[in-house]
Amino acid sequence: MLKTTASNERPPSHLFYQSRLRRPLVDRAEGIYLWDQDGRRVIDGSSGAMVVNIGHGNRNVLEAMKRQMDRVTFAYRLHFENEPAEELARRAAEKLPEGMDKIFFVSGGSEAVESCLKLARQWAVATGQKDRWKVISRFPSYHGGTLGALAITGYAALSDPFSPMMREMPKVPAPTAYLDRDNLTMEQRGIKYADMLEDKIQSEGPESVLAFIMEPIGGASTGALVAPDSYYRRIREICDKYGILLIHDEVMSGAGRTGKFLGGDHWDCKPDLIALSKGFASGYCPLGAMAAPSRLVQPVLDAGGFQHGFTYAGNPLACAAGLAVLDEIDRLGLIDNAAVMGDALKAELVALSERFPFIGDVRGKGLLLAAEFVSDRETMKPLPKELNAHQRVVDLAYERGLIIYSRRTRGGVEGDHFLVCPPMIITREQIGEIVAILGDVLEQLATELNLPVNR
Ligand code: PMP
Repeated sequence: MLKTTASNERPPSHLFYQSRLRRPLVDRAEGIYLWDQDGRRVIDGSSGAMVVNIGHGNRNVLEAMKRQMDRVTFAYRLHFENEPAEELARRAAEKLPEGMDKIFFVSGGSEAVESCLKLARQWAVATGQKDRWKVISRFPSYHGGTLGALAITGYAALSDPFSPMMREMPKVPAPTAYLDRDNLTMEQRGIKYADMLEDKIQSEGPESVLAFIMEPIGGASTGALVAPDSYYRRIREICDKYGILLIHDEVMSGAGRTGKFLGGDHWDCKPDLIALSKGFASGYCPLGAMAAPSRLVQPVLDAGGFQHGFTYAGNPLACAAGLAVLDEIDRLGLIDNAAVMGDALKAELVALSERFPFIGDVRGKGLLLAAEFVSDRETMKPLPKELNAHQRVVDLAYERGLIIYSRRTRGGVEGDHFLVCPPMIITREQIGEIVAILGDVLEQLATELNLPVNR
């Protein structure tokens, strides 16, 4: 058994991630809480990285995984099919928009996005459209860390070091209509942003464009960005007009987090391909998926097969976990709970913005929510970068036992925001706990950074 080590007496580590910062050692987790090895409890107000949608330590999921472990944990897909993968594909297809009846399993979000890009391309080749290869995406955005997914990610700090190694793809501005100070209505702004896609298609050459990818509800890069309703409709029209595939990256917004199974389900704008991960197996196992309609898959299979796949695809243990997660989402009514609790939490965040006028915008759907800091609400001017408000708010929250997620988005839009995305099992009382901590945090932030407070 591993020795339990208090965090202040840990030896140097052989492990490394992005930074030199050491984190506490996690000991255990239950529901919306995590404990470190010093016995300190924190609220998982970001569900990890918007992953643990059904909460930690769900007994039914763990039991289902144990049952699967006793049978088989790996069988290579070229040698065997397995029941959990078959059943999960069937159940997922039932929850997806009609016609999205083919599921391709992977182990994470970047792999899911890469799979969408590669299926789209192979479909174009198989159907005599070889000149189509450009994938337009938005700026800012995040679609993954692998070089293909990075090429469509609108986040300069992440992609710049690698630009000689990949073919960067065209970008259009993300629909940050809430920042615009023009005389247009929100609906007109939605059309304006969507039309930027049409302009880009025209300037790139419509016959060279393969697909457009977007997060229907933004993740960390934009802080839960929701476009005006008109945007979604118009994007679909434009893609149809030019024969371009619409890919929805639902890695963060999918699996119920926004109060519907998919973020895109809030609008009538069916995509052609969908990438899923994170909440899909809720962190119980690495799992992701691409969903596609037969009309795209069949020509690829007929033309000789999909030249793509990962060793761990359709892993029986990961799929058993994913299946049990879907069962729990249904049994506990978690998508409805995400909608109801999301509304309650959003209302609390709006109330905080009345007390703290340096919160300029509260946005998102369900439990994918964000608040953005501004120095002036009229102009929506961001706080000065040097204040490092997005990092400070996370640190102050952590000191008070709450994990939240934040960014100062680099890209077209500068501005600090923080996301509050607790697990979908959250109760009204627990929301109260989070909001009380956030109130203290913002009070302290205002004092430290000399920001205004309404008393
Ligand atoms: N797409 C989106 C929208 C994401 O939020 C993420 C992860 N933050 C990814 C793709 C990449 O997923 P992963 O880190 O599992 O590869």
